[in-house]
Amino acid sequence: LETKEEYGHKTLAQDVMRPRPSDPLLVVLTQEGMSVGEIEGVMADTDYSGFPVVVSQESQRLVGFVLRRDLVISLDNARKRQEGVVSASLVFFLDHVPPQPFSGPPVVKLRGILDLSPFTVTDHTPMAIALDIFRKLGLRQCLVTHNGRLLGIITKKDILKHMAQMSNRDPDSILFN
Ligand code: ADP
Repeated sequence: LETKEEYGHKTLAQDVMRPRPSDPLLVVLTQEGMSVGEIEGVMADTDYSGFPVVVSQESQRLVGFVLRRDLVISLDNARKRQEGVVSASLVFFLDHVPPQPFSGPPVVKLRGILDLSPFTVTDHTPMAIALDIFRKLGLRQCLVTHNGRLLGIITKKDILKHMAQMSNRDPDSILFN
C-alpha cells in the first residue's frame, strides 16, 4: 500500500487527533501535586488506556505517558504494601522528589512506570508520515504537540476510524498491510 495514496497529502495530525474542538479537554496528569485519591478519581471517571503526564496544567509541557494498567497496579501496590499510604498521599512522577513536611503521609513515586519518550508529532504533521511511523514502530498511540505544548492524542483506532470514513475499504486491512 502506498501511504500517500491512502491518506492524501492534506490530512494532518490535527484533523485526526482527539479531543475534537467540541469534545471535553484532553485528560492529563501532572508530574507533581496530584494525590493518590485524585488520580484514582481520574481513572474512575474515564476509561482511556493511558494518560499524558505534564509539568503543570498551565504549561501543558509533556513529560511522558503512563498506561492505565500500570497506574492501577502501582497505586494498588502502594496502598497495600507501602506503610501509611492514603488517598491524600502525593504522587510524584519526578526523578527527584522534593523534601516533604514530616507531618504529611508518605508519598508515592511513580517515575518507574512513566514512558519518558512517547512518540510525538506536531499538529501540522501530515498523517501519511504519522501513519508510516505508526506501522513501522507498531505504535498504539502518539501524542500531538504545538510549540512544545501538548494538544492531543491519536490512537491506532482513531486512525482506523478516520480512514474508514474516508474510504470504503476494510479498516483492519489498512494499518496491517
Ligand atoms: P482506543 O482508541 O484504542 O479505544 P483509548 O480507550 O485510550 O484507546 O481512547 C479512546 C478515545 O479517547 C480515542 O479517541 C482517544 O484518542 C481518546 N483518548 C485517549 N486518551 C485520552 C486522554 N487521556 N484524554 C482525552 N482523550 C483521550
